[in-house]
Amino acid sequence: MPYRIPFNKPFIVGKELYYISQSVLQCQTSGDGLYTKKAQELMKRNFGACDILLTTSCTTALDLAAILADLKEGDEVILPSFTFSSTANAFLLRGARPVFVDCRRDTLNIDENLIESAITSRTRAIAPVHYAGVGCEMDAIAAIAQKHELVVIEDAAQGVNARYKGRYLGTIGDIGAYSFHETKNFICGEGGAIVLNREELVERAEIVREKGTNRTRFFRGEVDKYTWVDIGSSLLPSDILAAFLYAQLENMDLITSKREAIYRLYETGLEPLASRGLLVSQLSRLIVNQTITCFTLC
Ligand SMILES: *Cc1c(COP(=O)(O)O)cnc(C)c1O
Repeated sequence: MPYRIPFNKPFIVGKELYYISQSVLQCQTSGDGLYTKKAQELMKRNFGACDILLTTSCTTALDLAAILADLKEGDEVILPSFTFSSTANAFLLRGARPVFVDCRRDTLNIDENLIESAITSRTRAIAPVHYAGVGCEMDAIAAIAQKHELVVIEDAAQGVNARYKGRYLGTIGDIGAYSFHETKNFICGEGGAIVLNREELVERAEIVREKGTNRTRFFRGEVDKYTWVDIGSSLLPSDILAAFLYAQLENMDLITSKREAIYRLYETGLEPLASRGLLVSQLSRLIVNQTITCFTLC
């Protein structure tokens, strides 16, 4: 039998199972418990954002972002032609039209030079995707967004703890979305987070994430009872998953250095193919961004 290289393997690096047992023993297994708060605080502190809220996935974080951007039927959103279905679905679900823009050959990210020609009077947002954790040209994208008054929603599913010019991916646009799916860098099975970079987005995000109620304000003691105030869904992950995730977030640098070591192993092994021009390695950029590794077959 030939050995098949697995696409990914779930892994444990620290106190994942201990924190899960704590969450169960303390009877805090629903959303927004102790470990959700700890995970959110750790990311806010490390990355710098107005707020970061855990969600059930990056997909639901993008759905929430599209609601916060107030997209309506007929609005247009610019996104790269090379991405995952969730980036487009979030906008389609609001009745908006995804407008695909071609990618750069070097980074496989949206070609910032092609964005302006795709803008029409209906364009409302740009959704750059940081493929393999390599940052898009965010300075150019921010300048275009400012000029045309567009919302920037970063799909940073693959870019947690990675940087563009010193700033953390997901914290540069108006809103960012992270994934903690089993195939990503930092995992909890299924999970995600929304990154809110404008204070005025926070309250509505809390409401939509809590089934359209102001329950989060109630738990903070800001209202004496909670009620239905807006559209929404159930976007809080169980605190059991947040417990697993928190242990991973405590070890982000360790996880990244292990991934880098594995990358080096592949790089050495695949060198004969690369030197014959059959394979392109994206290592140099990835070291700068401290994130996952990627090879492109020619
Ligand atoms: C993985 C991924 C998603 C979806 O993430 P989930 O957490 O599985 O919903 C969205 N966008 C991109 C670019 C991804 O790589």
